[in-house]
Amino acid sequence: MRAAVVHEFGKPLVIEERPAPEPGPGQVRIRLEASGLCHTDIHAAHGDWPVKPSPPFVPGHEGVGIVEELGEGVTHLKIGQRVAAPWLGRACGRCEHCLSGWETLCESQENTGYGRDGGYAEQMLVWADFAQPVPDGIDPRDAAPLTCAGVTTFKALKVAGVRPAQLVVVSGVGGLGHLAVQYAKIAGATVAAVDVTDAKLEMAAELGADILIDARKEDPAEVLQRHGGAHVALATAADDRAFAAVYGGLRRGGKLVMVGLPADGSIKVPIFETVLKGVSVIGSIVGTRQDLDEVYRLHAAGRTRVIYRTRRLDEVNESIEEVMRGEVSARIVFEM
Ligand code: NAD
Ligand code: ZN
Ligand code: ZN
Repeated sequence: MRAAVVHEFGKPLVIEERPAPEPGPGQVRIRLEASGLCHTDIHAAHGDWPVKPSPPFVPGHEGVGIVEELGEGVTHLKIGQRVAAPWLGRACGRCEHCLSGWETLCESQENTGYGRDGGYAEQMLVWADFAQPVPDGIDPRDAAPLTCAGVTTFKALKVAGVRPAQLVVVSGVGGLGHLAVQYAKIAGATVAAVDVTDAKLEMAAELGADILIDARKEDPAEVLQRHGGAHVALATAADDRAFAAVYGGLRRGGKLVMVGLPADGSIKVPIFETVLKGVSVIGSIVGTRQDLDEVYRLHAAGRTRVIYRTRRLDEVNESIEEVMRGEVSARIVFEM
């Protein structure tokens, strides 16, 4: 089987022929149909974050495919069934986080396409308990971006407790942001979208954003304050400046939810304003299996639209360049 492999941080991925991996007890092997390119895969391939993967590794945590072999003891999945392999590749199931509905915070978790080989391949292994069944009727190319971009932004809005009539700002309308805009609309919010390219802002408008803010031309904080300030700001861009800009656009009691993960990212949080305005700054990491199931069900019900362009796996390096240049609305999906 073919896989796109990171051998050295910052170097092009290499397409390699590898033997089909054999599922161990509790695992299944899937044959991938579609696999999304999340910006996280680029951070992984560049070694951007303090906790780094160990090359050689296969990135990808938006893989969707068909179960083709069951490891020992796997009884709840069937050969021929469509599943996804999300970022949360496995959690312990026993710690306080797992037991309290926060498996995404498990300290013993394994991460797909980071700590173990991911979906930039024709075949891969998935822990059966974390192989997410994809409901019938969802196109695998839609399911792929929902598996990370969808669940991550859906969860971030849940964490923020968004309610109807609130003003939600989505800063960065890329793979994550284009779904965030839709979930915020579903929650009944008025939505402001911030980006730095014309195409992304046009897409945000098409998806229902009420207020468009071009951060190249205007200060998002000022525009948001003219609208009374945002109740919730979802920062999804891989750029620190995008976080600072919307922090300043919060109203009293507002919440900044940090989702994007720029390399060495940090912002200055002014203590006086944070205290007096009762502002919260929250980090949010992907979502649970339950969250992902809800994301798929919303999509199956026709409530969301996934915007993508398809590429072949051997176009992986050009695809990464395109995403870095901000040219992709909204996701690249590799068709296997
Ligand atoms: P993307 O490249 O598809 O989208 C980023 C968007 O931000 C683009 O539309 C870009 O034009 C826009 N942008 C860039 N600079 C900006 C600025 N100054 N102001 C406003 N917008 C700006 O990336 P993505 O796949 O959506 O991922 C975004 C980030 O989220 C990455 O850092 C990724 O690692 C992270 N991520 C986090 C989680 C999580 O669980 N917290 C999950 C998935 C991805
Ligand atoms: Zn755990
Ligand atoms: Zn991701």
